[in-house]
Amino acid sequence: MVLMPREGDWFDEGRLREVVEALASGRMRFHEAERALGNSNAAALARRLALERMYGVSLSSIGSTIIDFEEVVGRNIENPIGAVQVPLGVAGPLRVEGDYASGDYYVPLATSEGALVASINRGAKAVTMAGGARAKVLRDGMARAPVFWTPSLVEARRLVEWVMSRLGEVREAAEATTRHGRLVEVQPFQAGNMVWLRFVYHTGDAMGMNMATIATDAAVEYILAHYPGEARLVAISGNLCTDKKPSAVNLICGRGKTVTAEASIPADVVRDVFRVDPADIEFVNRAKNLLGSAVAATLGGFNAHIANIVAAVFLATGQDMAQVVESSMGYTWVEARKDGSLYISVTLPSLEVGTVGGGTRLPTQREALALLGVAGGGDPPGANARKLAEIIAATVLAGELNLLAALAANELARAHRLLGRGEARRKK
Ligand code: NAP
Repeated sequence: MVLMPREGDWFDEGRLREVVEALASGRMRFHEAERALGNSNAAALARRLALERMYGVSLSSIGSTIIDFEEVVGRNIENPIGAVQVPLGVAGPLRVEGDYASGDYYVPLATSEGALVASINRGAKAVTMAGGARAKVLRDGMARAPVFWTPSLVEARRLVEWVMSRLGEVREAAEATTRHGRLVEVQPFQAGNMVWLRFVYHTGDAMGMNMATIATDAAVEYILAHYPGEARLVAISGNLCTDKKPSAVNLICGRGKTVTAEASIPADVVRDVFRVDPADIEFVNRAKNLLGSAVAATLGGFNAHIANIVAAVFLATGQDMAQVVESSMGYTWVEARKDGSLYISVTLPSLEVGTVGGGTRLPTQREALALLGVAGGGDPPGANARKLAEIIAATVLAGELNLLAALAANELARAHRLLGRGEARRKK
């Protein structure tokens, strides 16, 4: 285990003091601490001590971390001073039967929202008692869409047609940059003289945003070098990708994994676990998730709280937190069936997840992935990321089911009083 260096430890204490002094007085810029001390852990300590001096605060909790900044600077963070800690809970066992996931899982959830883990846990109980959730990845592709300028709409159309006629060469250029990235398709969009080419890739077990960007950069280089007409790149990301913004293009065309999960819960399980009837849950779903969301004109938010579950799993497993924006779009569908059972499904069109790259290599996040049996590359490549997507979809299903049931039983405020404001603890 590597700890943050302490004063007088394995580096020059006098030099550390000088650097802290230089940082606090503004004579040295924060990003220069690494070069001055020759070590990222020492630099993190120096920046933290300088901030403590400048603002008269203690940052000792932030400084207490197992992260070895020698491993993460240059990959995951710049100017580190320590780490924040978020409580981690588990919901489970949750039975999942997918094409990649199969078994009972304890799902790691990082959150500070009291009642969230308990809520998912109760949903997981009902789903597992009912035999589990079935899950399936329907579509898989990470998108990057550069925007091009051309002089006219005729020239813009010519560019699109030329690229579509040269897909073999464009693919070769893109795929030369990666062992795992495969260009699946190029989706063209045009507005007047402007062109967007939405490159969609299979990215193995990586979420794939760097991979897709690097591959697209090479594809664009090929296009601009060989296209006989007039065109220039405006930006490698033209917002039709769409990364970290709510958008209909991701909702309809998908981005990352389009994944769906379903469960059929017998009436007696619904009544035992939730103390309501299937028809009560169905009606809440219609009134809230469907009509309520329509009246609110929500973009892809026809659900109760998918973002809660997606954010908690993302934080626990090292996903890119800003992608919660599009990854938590989704639909929840409920039927009270004639045989008395409750059918529920969730569909997430744009779940962007990986098990290699980005924050998945950090030590606690990697352990959380290992708990689900998906740390690192899968066999075949891509299997781990799809398995993670299936588990997340099943967890979302459990969370949606429980919240709808809690609303049907009018239990929500009580649960949050007990578990979000500590009243359950005080009662003990
Ligand atoms: P990455 O770590 O940049 O790339 C994945 C790496 O893992 C590649 O070098 C790949 O090699 C390798 N790899 C090894 N085994 C693999 C396997 N089984 N499947 C897939 N790849 C495997 O990760 P990324 O997912 O492309 O990018 C994620 C990062 O991008 C995150 O940190 C995120 O915050 C950031 N991000 C970037 C942008 C952007 O515009 N660039 C936007 C949003 C987020 P090969 O390439 O040779 O296959």
